Amino acid sequence: MATAWVDFKKLKADVAIEQVLAHYGVHLRRIGATELRGRCPLPTHTSARSRDSFAVNIARNVWSCRSLSCMQARGGRPGGNILDFVALMEGCSIRDAALRLQGWSGAAPERFIVPRESRPDPIASENPPLRFALQYIDATHPYLTSRGVTPHTVRTFGLGFYMGKGLLRGRIVIPIHSQSGELIAYAGRAINGQEPKYRFPAGFRKSLVLFNLHRALGTEARTVIVVEGFFDTLAVHQAGYPAVVALMGSTISRYQAALLSMHFDRVVLMLDGDEAGRQGARNIADTLGTRISVSALSLDDGRQPDELTPRELQQLLAASAIATLDQDPATRM
Ligand SMILES: [Zn+2]
Repeated sequence: MATAWVDFKKLKADVAIEQVLAHYGVHLRRIGATELRGRCPLPTHTSARSRDSFAVNIARNVWSCRSLSCMQARGGRPGGNILDFVALMEGCSIRDAALRLQGWSGAAPERFIVPRESRPDPIASENPPLRFALQYIDATHPYLTSRGVTPHTVRTFGLGFYMGKGLLRGRIVIPIHSQSGELIAYAGRAINGQEPKYRFPAGFRKSLVLFNLHRALGTEARTVIVVEGFFDTLAVHQAGYPAVVALMGSTISRYQAALLSMHFDRVVLMLDGDEAGRQGARNIADTLGTRISVSALSLDDGRQPDELTPRELQQLLAASAIATLDQDPATRM
């Protein structure tokens, strides 16, 4: 460990203090938009009287405890950053705190991430479950309303605007789950034209996931609607079709194809009404082959499912229900 490489600045920028608190099982209550408050978890805290002295600012990624005895035990400092916190909790140096944090937060520097080609087996390197969940996201952000997402859908999917530090700061966060419903990642959607439009955590492999699969499986439907994006999924779900999954793009991986044929008898493709979407639908039909029945709905040029009203979606999907199951999808484009 003595020679391990660690970037303090990058860690402090990339790891949210909420993630650190969750690691230690610290539960605080929210005060206002960016502040949390509660009982001080530090070993330096001995006062039984100051029960509400610990404060966290998630926007600045810092904490403080104003209990006099706790401050004195920490050399008179009111608070600090995430590395100071871990060092106090663990009774170790700042450098050791950084190494521990790097180890369990998944914030390893990129050169330590094994290149994709050298990974032995896609199943063996599935996206592991996250060890924390973002607790303090704003589910009432106007961006969600502006995209036509209802409060009920926001709650169902756990969406919100993230004000904390790190990769997802200032973005709409979308929890992504494994087929068994374990939280494995958050996607971060830019809300005012920043690039990239979506951010995913380092090491996340979207080719091994179908967004919303665990909810679609919960419906026990045999037919699943397949769309490209997160917001398409929300729109179709909202229109009354909960058996919907997203590829997170217009291509399908072998793994995603296997998931579909393992769990469903029939796939209804509803990709964007553009060249990429049409080409994607042809390729997906080829990849799925004869393992599963596939039909494709054709959207008007320039349209995508998340721009359609619930009524329009219902009309499109009602037509698909009477389509011949064995029809060659390529001829229906
Ligand atoms: Zn304290």
